[in-house]
Amino acid sequence: MQKIELLAPAGDLERLKIAVLYGADAVYLGGKQFSLRSRASNFTLEDIAEGVKFANAHGAHVHVTVNMLPHEDDLEGLKEYLIALERIGVTAIIAASPYIMMTAKRYAPKLEVHVSTQHSSTNSSCANYWKDKGMDRVVLARECSLKDILQTSENTDIPLEVFVHGGMCISYSGRCVLSNQMTSRDANRGGCAQSCRWKYRLFEGDTQLHDERDMFSMSSKDLMAARYIPALIQAGIASLKIEGRMKSAYYIATLIHTYRHLIDEIYEQGSISEERMEYYVKELSKAENRPTASGFYNGLPKAMDHLYGINGAGVTQEYIAYVLDYDEEQHLATLEVRNNFQPFIEAEVFGPHIPMTRFHFQELYDLDGNTLEVAKTPMQIIKTRIDVPMEKDAMIRKVMVKDRSDIY
Ligand code: SF4
Repeated sequence: MQKIELLAPAGDLERLKIAVLYGADAVYLGGKQFSLRSRASNFTLEDIAEGVKFANAHGAHVHVTVNMLPHEDDLEGLKEYLIALERIGVTAIIAASPYIMMTAKRYAPKLEVHVSTQHSSTNSSCANYWKDKGMDRVVLARECSLKDILQTSENTDIPLEVFVHGGMCISYSGRCVLSNQMTSRDANRGGCAQSCRWKYRLFEGDTQLHDERDMFSMSSKDLMAARYIPALIQAGIASLKIEGRMKSAYYIATLIHTYRHLIDEIYEQGSISEERMEYYVKELSKAENRPTASGFYNGLPKAMDHLYGINGAGVTQEYIAYVLDYDEEQHLATLEVRNNFQPFIEAEVFGPHIPMTRFHFQELYDLDGNTLEVAKTPMQIIKTRIDVPMEKDAMIRKVMVKDRSDIY
């Protein structure tokens, strides 16, 4: 059985490289044309070519979202764009429009075509329909339960991709016109203003249903489906997808590092204990997550799976340094500061080839050799001696005072 794919989002080249270095088997990104998420720092063709070269050199693949629902005016240049993606070595496009799918099959036949989640494929009949149309993979709707996923997998042999982590729409993905209605920004052409996460007053007729101070929001908690991965592997699912092309490099590294180790452990051991699973869930909670829930995996989400009244953005100051270089002989690390920290604090490091390890900082120095009482300037380069396993491109975070695993 082919090993399940870990598919990471990439908002730009930096995040693409981080995802690949930290163990993604494939990354998906949006080009400047024909893609949703128009605000997610989309790639030029040159960027995509560089990303493909980097990914391929590390044994990974690149998928490109060509998933807008085009109107008549949007179609010009599509054929040339698809041919260019094929030429530069992109593995797959993710498409929602049948016209884009058929154009790819006709003019760029080496590109796999993956049917976007925008199609809300929730069963094996849908999956088999797309197989009959010559498509190569179906991204199932986020609104599928685990039971739906397992039954679909049993009744089709087209490869299936499922979401395991990231943002959820309060509406059926791809069927929402809230943003269009309220801001004239089309969610199906990359312009979603996330209107569901705004704060509202709730009325029944003329009667306001709550206290003026308790604003109402329709936001859903983010998805975190790590606990379902053993069942997804068992069912022969092809790919586990992480949502979040707008997220930070630290978020991507934390999630990919954790999911990579979790998946590898399941394959190596044949199963995973509850204790180890809880360890991984706790590791995932160290990313800058909004509160999370299991989405539709367990059936219809309940009231507690929504965020009423809060946006829940989870930005933290815990990520403190990026390792630019490490001299193994002298144990000397060159760090780029992200958030302020002091010498001698306890910290955690994790990297592309090193597991999460705790250590205490020693003295910190600037590049002139002056001792620092605090590293406080973001992007400042500093040096320090570190005696635990360390490597270039590793990330260092503070040890969290509060255990955030309760957000799960
Ligand atoms: S407004 Fe909310 S529910 Fe609608 S598309 Fe945007 S994120 Fe999804």
